Amino acid sequence: MTEKYLAQPDLDFIAQVRGLGGETLKKCYQCATCSVACPIAPENSPFPRKEMIAASWGLKDRLICSGDIWLCHQCGDCTDLCPRGAAPGDVLSAVRSAAITEYATPKVLAKIVNDPQKLPILLIIPAIWFAILAYITMAHDDIMTKIFHAIFGDFIQWSHSHGEHIIAQADFFSTWFVDLTFVPTFTAAVLIFLFSLKNFLDDIHQNAVLEGKTDKTSLNYKEFIQSLIKVVPTVLKHNKFSECETNKDRATPHMMVLFSFIGLFIVTALFFISLYVLQKPGPYPQINPVKWLANISGVALVIGSALMIKNRLADETQLTFYKDWFLLGIVFSLGATGMLTEMARLAHFTWICYFFYYLHLISIFLLFAFLPFSKMAHIAYRFVAMGYAEYGNRK
Ligand code: SF4
Ligand code: SF4
Repeated sequence: MTEKYLAQPDLDFIAQVRGLGGETLKKCYQCATCSVACPIAPENSPFPRKEMIAASWGLKDRLICSGDIWLCHQCGDCTDLCPRGAAPGDVLSAVRSAAITEYATPKVLAKIVNDPQKLPILLIIPAIWFAILAYITMAHDDIMTKIFHAIFGDFIQWSHSHGEHIIAQADFFSTWFVDLTFVPTFTAAVLIFLFSLKNFLDDIHQNAVLEGKTDKTSLNYKEFIQSLIKVVPTVLKHNKFSECETNKDRATPHMMVLFSFIGLFIVTALFFISLYVLQKPGPYPQINPVKWLANISGVALVIGSALMIKNRLADETQLTFYKDWFLLGIVFSLGATGMLTEMARLAHFTWICYFFYYLHLISIFLLFAFLPFSKMAHIAYRFVAMGYAEYGNRK
């Protein structure tokens, strides 16, 4: 007897995908040109034709749990060639955004982060928080010194300042306050990611087994991690971007931003060790090699993100939505405020330096706190999906 499959359209999901940039999804008439055109679709059950029909039918479970939507690098080749103007590349991007919202916990925060009307709240929270920390640091230095002395004696000092003649950010925001804000925020983001990605991995495996996209019936985590390691060079070299035609020039700015984040992560870790393990607080001299890495990474971040913004503005066929601007805005402001802080400090413009540092801290907070909910999360989801494709022999 033929097995029957009862499709139950999720109309809310269709509306969600349309709102996130997949407005054109209903235009698809299933000609399959896009799947033929896609330079990175696997031969077995290629994308994005099947995703287009699933999206127009509102088959949320099929799409959200599919690793294939993350293998797409949004090059736009399929969108260019679609005879119906259904923009499959944009639809897949919208589905990915819906998937991030679905897997991220708490969902209410994911909805707030992706709602443009809530942006003022997202900005006001860190703005007030860091203003309070600056006030305590500058106006109550003596009280904090006494509190620290009462609790830690001479073992741990309140101030990491060097002296009055040096402009040090620690004079404006206590280093303790900064780290006591960012370490828990970053840790929470990592834990949310681990939880979300574990569920995501289990789901894409079940989906791959169901749709015959893998020959692995069980999920072996050790082998999966080995597969993840295998795809690291592909991610770093951006090989998949280079296979595309339409938006080939996206690869360079993407790589600049990726490597600048890696560089800044290394710099932050080394300065953290320098401060708390070696007891050597900043500011560090410009001849310090770690400082070189920080400056090079900062410049790469500014240029890379500026190029991304320029490309978006120049390409009228590429639709850009709030989720894209939110991410681009954070990344650019992170680099720009970091470099402006440094330049103002070197120019001895004390209050201008502090002002830019204040904006820089707000940018870092936005990046860390909302990382699992914003488009930035696609890096982690795509990495896991690529690792799973390697693991499941989906080539
Ligand atoms: S999205 Fe366009 S190219 Fe792809 S199947 Fe539909 S109509 Fe054809
Ligand atoms: S946007 Fe590019 S990578 Fe994504 S499905 Fe279309 S052709 Fe393939």
